[in-house]
Amino acid sequence: MKPLELDIQKIKLESERRRDENFRFRAFLKGVNENKLDRHVHELNEDISGRIDCTACGNCCTSMYPSVSSKEIRILANIENESEESFTEKFIEYDKTEGLRFLKGKPCRYLSDCKCTIYENRPEDCRSFPYLHKSKFASRLWGVIDNCAVCPIVYNVYEELKRIYRFR
Ligand code: SF4
Ligand code: SF4
Repeated sequence: MKPLELDIQKIKLESERRRDENFRFRAFLKGVNENKLDRHVHELNEDISGRIDCTACGNCCTSMYPSVSSKEIRILANIENESEESFTEKFIEYDKTEGLRFLKGKPCRYLSDCKCTIYENRPEDCRSFPYLHKSKFASRLWGVIDNCAVCPIVYNVYEELKRIYRFR
């Protein structure tokens, strides 16, 4: 494996520069064995995420909006000492297309010095990001390409996959 790329500015630029290549690789991955691909992704994720310190990065929390369930809204409203209605009005955005509610604001209001100040109560979407431990990687490739520019774990996993599949 090549040394990991950790410089977030370089990752952003490289992801932009490689956008066409990344879409070609996406099309290629649609044709490979799905279970084998998941195995590769899970192994790479375990290895690479173990070598990247999220508490020194926090880039997902500055660039994305996590989705939140009703229960999570109740928990966050409680933390803020707000009624659910008032918290929702101030801090939640509803996306009609996706049918989901999201925490408004970039960076996230709970991010401080690259760390989550509500870590124990963070939404499930935050816990799951960047979703590489999940199965059916091939069905989530649109999001993966976007996340390459945001998350060093995703960027490095995607680049390693290109090497494993000898993609040019
Ligand atoms: S709630 Fe915490 S983990 Fe989730 S985006 Fe905000 S700072 Fe990041
Ligand atoms: S999940 Fe990715 S973007 Fe978020 S803090 Fe960890 S390395 Fe950074």
